[in-house]
Amino acid sequence: MASLRVTVWNEYRHEKESPRIAQVYPQGIHGAIAEGLREHGLSVRTATLDEPEHGLTQQVLDETDVLTWWGHMAHGDVSDEIVDRVHKRVLEGMGLIVLHSGHFAKIFKRLMGTTCNLKWREIGEHERVWVVNPAHPIAEGLSDHFVIPETEMYGEPFGIPEPDSLVFVSWYQGGEVFRGGCTYYRGQGKVFYFSPGHESYPIYYQPEIRQVIYNAVRWAAPTHGPAIEVDNRKEPLEPVAVREL
Ligand code: ZN
Repeated sequence: MASLRVTVWNEYRHEKESPRIAQVYPQGIHGAIAEGLREHGLSVRTATLDEPEHGLTQQVLDETDVLTWWGHMAHGDVSDEIVDRVHKRVLEGMGLIVLHSGHFAKIFKRLMGTTCNLKWREIGEHERVWVVNPAHPIAEGLSDHFVIPETEMYGEPFGIPEPDSLVFVSWYQGGEVFRGGCTYYRGQGKVFYFSPGHESYPIYYQPEIRQVIYNAVRWAAPTHGPAIEVDNRKEPLEPVAVREL
């Protein structure tokens, strides 16, 4: 698995603008996510919004097997050209892990085709993340649930298409529930949405969260097949007696 090439993308604005959030993530949210993946032996690079081409040049994407995406306050600053580029790579087979407020990222909304809207509340309540598909590779190594001590509530109804697999459902102290771990297939690519990760809380240091993101990266790794070619196949594979219609 060491040959898997991961790019961790982060908008990286909250950490620069708020000393309180910079204290939680001194190396940026991308730094914490990358550290968690490196602990598991993966080869990781990071990219952020304010780099040229948002750090997602064609070469970087061509050399990326799985891309993780965290964004929140600057979804509108992501250029449509880069979104097109990421979208094309996903359809070609690059895995995409969309985290937390990335539910409103241009790339996620395009891949889902729905509002991706949800309810939210930030009062530092706790969250129980329940494994609802223990057979799924993204649940590997986890017990039936784990607790995030302080979190932002994300509540249903979540404006997403029915997931191909629902791996996690979150319950919040305030009573809401949320489909917080959802998988999708898009073209030759695999997409996983995972809801925990509000910038004010040290969620990306938590071992269970790091385990889920690592599992998700492995699950979303490309299945190396031939590029899909769709055309009007005039010649049949077996001989067929052609009748005049
Ligand atoms: Zn948030």
